[in-house]
Amino acid sequence: MDKHSSFSIAPGGMPGMTPGQRGGIITALSGVALLLTSFSGVQWLPPVVHLSISLILIAIGTIWFAAITFRSPANRNNGTWQRALTNRGIWGWAAGILLTLFYILLYWFPETLGFGENNNTGFMLLFDPLARFFKGDDARASQWFMYGTLYTAVILILGIRFLIKYRDNRYQIIRTSAVILSQLGFAYLIPEILEGLNTEQPYFSKDLKNFWPLNYYFFDGWHLDNMQAGGSLGMFYLVWGIAGFAIITPLLTYFLGKRWYCSWVCGCGGLAETAGDSFRHLSSKKMSAWKIERWMIHGVLAYIVLVTAVVLYGYFTGVGEVFGMNIYHIFQKPYGFLIGAMFSGVIGVGFYPVMGSRVWCRFGCPLAAYMGLFQRFKSRFRISVNGAQCISCGNCSTYCEQGIDVRSYAQRGTDVVRASCVGCGICATVCPRGVLKLENGPADLKKENMIG
Ligand code: SF4
Ligand code: SF4
Repeated sequence: MDKHSSFSIAPGGMPGMTPGQRGGIITALSGVALLLTSFSGVQWLPPVVHLSISLILIAIGTIWFAAITFRSPANRNNGTWQRALTNRGIWGWAAGILLTLFYILLYWFPETLGFGENNNTGFMLLFDPLARFFKGDDARASQWFMYGTLYTAVILILGIRFLIKYRDNRYQIIRTSAVILSQLGFAYLIPEILEGLNTEQPYFSKDLKNFWPLNYYFFDGWHLDNMQAGGSLGMFYLVWGIAGFAIITPLLTYFLGKRWYCSWVCGCGGLAETAGDSFRHLSSKKMSAWKIERWMIHGVLAYIVLVTAVVLYGYFTGVGEVFGMNIYHIFQKPYGFLIGAMFSGVIGVGFYPVMGSRVWCRFGCPLAAYMGLFQRFKSRFRISVNGAQCISCGNCSTYCEQGIDVRSYAQRGTDVVRASCVGCGICATVCPRGVLKLENGPADLKKENMIG
């Protein structure tokens, strides 16, 4: 058989890149290359200039490429299954391996990134001036400060790319702007500024939106003690944190579905929606994946509830063991390693180019599982369906990052009511027939609509 044979009447193959697209890619890659030269240890530019020029080049190149590639929003997904980066080809695997490697170095070998006991070198050195800006002249960057800075920069730059790509859709513009501002303000600027103003206080998490059980150490003894020692600011965070999971989360999920958090506020969701947007179609739609997903995500929720109960028991009774088991070594430490580091970091982001953009949100996040229970059983949120208009093209299912077979609902004409839906709205955005609509209707949904 001729190797070019195809049943398609469209021209075969992937169109080459235009000179403009090449210019954008070369500019962005030169920014990455400049950033990587810091690993040589030769400091040939002042760190603040080095970091600024690198990030500016990456931003200009990315926006330039996006402006040309998405000139017509109707063509935004052209070539998705033909590019080696986005079809689990060689570049996709290479990106996955590099991302995974970065997380392994970040968590367990920060010294390879230049983090030292007394002073930073190489790559880490680039972030010292920014750390001093926030925390005073004696400060230097930790690996978590470096990670937070890069994380925020990636959401900002690739968030602008997303806004260009989906600029014809109001919902996408609003929710993406919200997630960018939330990361920038709630997760980065406010905590860093507050840390700088309260250097004499012991550390406690100042990310206003990182509620338990996503913030799995919120109820650890040291964290509770540090918040109580943190004066009125610490007490505010203690009360806010408890209200966050006990009142705010159920209430907002009742009115808006879990999208208020997963797609508008959350940093993990923010990264998935911006950096992971090119890989959203790679999520498995198989029934077996759905079964694994339900067992895993509810298993992680049960795991953190158990760990937290044991930790609180130890905190209030003053004992270090329960049924002869050491609370730290048997409960806290394994959760931090398996779920906090391996799952949410290494697998959750490293596997974007292979398993899709929401691996963590779909299979592991205990807060998503908690909100999913409300969304499924008591929430006004649903995706309503005008089934008569559906032409069964499958765009909605293809681009659902949570692996939901939206088309099957459209074909049956039943509302989509699923615990796992993060309300990203992409299914509705890519539907050529306007079949799908994200709505907040009455909470007493018909039983037959509740499938997952
Ligand atoms: S069903 Fe639609 S809104 Fe829900 S996660 Fe999938 S694409 Fe996003
Ligand atoms: S994208 Fe729209 S028309 Fe296509 S299968 Fe989904 S609901 Fe039907």
